[in-house]
Amino acid sequence: MVRYDVIVIGGGHAGCEAAHAAARLGAKTAMVTLDPSKIGAMSCNPAIGGLAKGQLVKEIDALGGLMGRITDLATIQFRRLNSSKGPAVRSSRAQCDKNRYARFMQRHLAGVAQLEVLEGEVTGLIVASGSVVGIRLNGEDVFGKSVVITSGTFLRAIMHRGKEQEEGGRLGDQSAKSLSGDLMKLGLRLRRLKTGTPPRLHKDSIDWSKTTPQPGDPVATPFSFFHQPNPYPFLPQVNCFLTYTNERTHELIERNIGLSAMYSGAITGVGPRYCPSIEDKIVRFRDKDRHQLFLEPEGLDVDEIYVNGISTSLPKDVQEEFVHTIDGLQKAKFIRYAYAVEYDAIDARQLNNTLESKDYSGLFFAGQVNGTSGYEEAAGQGIIAGINAAHRALGRGSFSLTRADGYIGVLIDDLILKGSDEPYRMFTSRAEYRLLLREDNADLRLSPKGIEIGLLSGDSARLFQDKLNEMENLRGKVDQWFFFPNSETNERFSGMGLNVIKDRVSAGVLLRRPEVTFETLKGLGFPLDAEATSPICEQIEIQAKYQGYIEKDLELLAGVRVAEGMPIPCNLDFNVVAGLSNEIKGRLTTTRPQNLGQASRIQGVTPAAVANLMIHLKNLGVRSPPTGESSQNA
Ligand SMILES: Cc1cc2nc3c(=O)[nH]c(=O)nc-3n(C[C@H](O)[C@H](O)[C@H](O)COP(=O)(O)OP(=O)(O)OC[C@H]3O[C@@H](n4cnc5c(N)ncnc54)[C@H](O)[C@@H]3O)c2cc1C
Repeated sequence: MVRYDVIVIGGGHAGCEAAHAAARLGAKTAMVTLDPSKIGAMSCNPAIGGLAKGQLVKEIDALGGLMGRITDLATIQFRRLNSSKGPAVRSSRAQCDKNRYARFMQRHLAGVAQLEVLEGEVTGLIVASGSVVGIRLNGEDVFGKSVVITSGTFLRAIMHRGKEQEEGGRLGDQSAKSLSGDLMKLGLRLRRLKTGTPPRLHKDSIDWSKTTPQPGDPVATPFSFFHQPNPYPFLPQVNCFLTYTNERTHELIERNIGLSAMYSGAITGVGPRYCPSIEDKIVRFRDKDRHQLFLEPEGLDVDEIYVNGISTSLPKDVQEEFVHTIDGLQKAKFIRYAYAVEYDAIDARQLNNTLESKDYSGLFFAGQVNGTSGYEEAAGQGIIAGINAAHRALGRGSFSLTRADGYIGVLIDDLILKGSDEPYRMFTSRAEYRLLLREDNADLRLSPKGIEIGLLSGDSARLFQDKLNEMENLRGKVDQWFFFPNSETNERFSGMGLNVIKDRVSAGVLLRRPEVTFETLKGLGFPLDAEATSPICEQIEIQAKYQGYIEKDLELLAGVRVAEGMPIPCNLDFNVVAGLSNEIKGRLTTTRPQNLGQASRIQGVTPAAVANLMIHLKNLGVRSPPTGESSQNA
């Protein structure tokens, strides 16, 4: 009989992170997938990162995960979005060679000790005394102390294009037909969601002269904090291109809208509001006479061009007709037609912040199956589920991140408390501590946690320690280097367009001025050994400029942490709490928050209700844990 510590169902972005984390933590791990050759496949757009998603990738990397490292190997265009704006909203985005991405991921996983890949369809779970203890695979029992489901878009999946319907979680893949039924039999709540993908066109059939090139940054930056040497040896970098829909395109789509699977009623699942189909865009934004489309190469040696912005479930002939109205695409040849996919997801409110089921111990869920959309959201959940699945199997404490720790914490907190009526994607606006949760400091926030649990180790852990040492040295240097208000110094200041100084001022204090950078300091005579644009300098500069704001955020954070920490007993009867409306009692009972912080963020739960709940908890003798207690619970 085969026995594992951890079984991960799925080889998508959630599954890869979960299986990698579990195995690296020492758990004997099996990754089960319908098709091992598709491990790490990019089902939709060939890009990683973007606004808020870039932060997720950096956080995964900082904890010791894979996505950032593999992305660097496959990047064919890098852009730092919002680079002219504040550091809180800057995000990295990498266009990837999709085949290389999957290949590098597979190669990396093949080298991970304790990790085995099994092929087949998981049809059910083995449950004993309220715990999940294994899976049914290819008609056999496979036992595992923890099971992580990362089934993505595959559960009872149906692909739609006009009236055409075909079973399958992704073009060329089968559907997982039985697992949903088993989950429902166990009493788990499922919901139907949908997502769509645009057509892929042949690169030689596009008239590129009618489109506008969109080059990447002149110098690409690695996603991974731990990628050396610098400069990193990226693949050759390529352009993306821009074109637009027009009135003729819109008129054609509108005329045929009844043929769209989404608008004919063939699809009942709810789609992503923030990643709408072209049909949705035209219906919802009638005042717009054109929509932007990005033509994105899917790799260095592939012919496919991904048309970002026209995901659709219209029939093939209508797709051809409307695509041919677009500048540059008049003669475009289709390699793959667009389609929508409808699938089962679970109601994530049935999970704890470790992504373990509240009802069945040993059962974890991560990725699109939890109602999210996007590779990065999937991977962010995957690493947390993988860590916890391994910790459970190996008898270690649970591991979770709060909203103050990172975007991964925000994502999981939102999912388990509010669930998702539609595929959830991350935005910077979802995080209340945006100034703290920056891309550039993800390692400072999370790498100590990654090192503590043993997921970040070896050279990466050493590099992180070196960075801390270098930062400390440089911070000491800027604080101890002074400019004195004499004529020579002030001439230099004026010469560089800076206000002159009247008192002695340290380089560190000067760095707080918006117009002063390390380049400026160097020009003023500050002895800088490092590159003025190095990550170390960038970090010291951001900390200097935003120190005041960050302190304010931290104060706020400390208050919330105290409240967040107050635990709510899992068997608490909310109906007996005085002063709560029936509606709030119902919401709390459905969600079963684990602590006061979670309760306060449930939709419809008012601050007054939270105060009543806190009084009730205090009367029961519940106390807040001391501030600063680790989120790693024993
Ligand atoms: C058509 C389409 C359009 C999309 N559009 C977008 C978009 O516009 N924007 C966006 O951000 N994201 C989009 N995505 C979503 C993106 O692909 C996912 O968010 C991401 O891949 C989810 O990762 P995951 O690991 O959760 O699941 P997936 O990448 O879907 O992987 C699921 C894995 O589970 C395995 N599996 C499932 N069930 C079983 C079973 N019973 N037994 C064994 N193995 C099983 C599969 O073989 C697969 O390896 C789209 C996906 C599709 C298919």
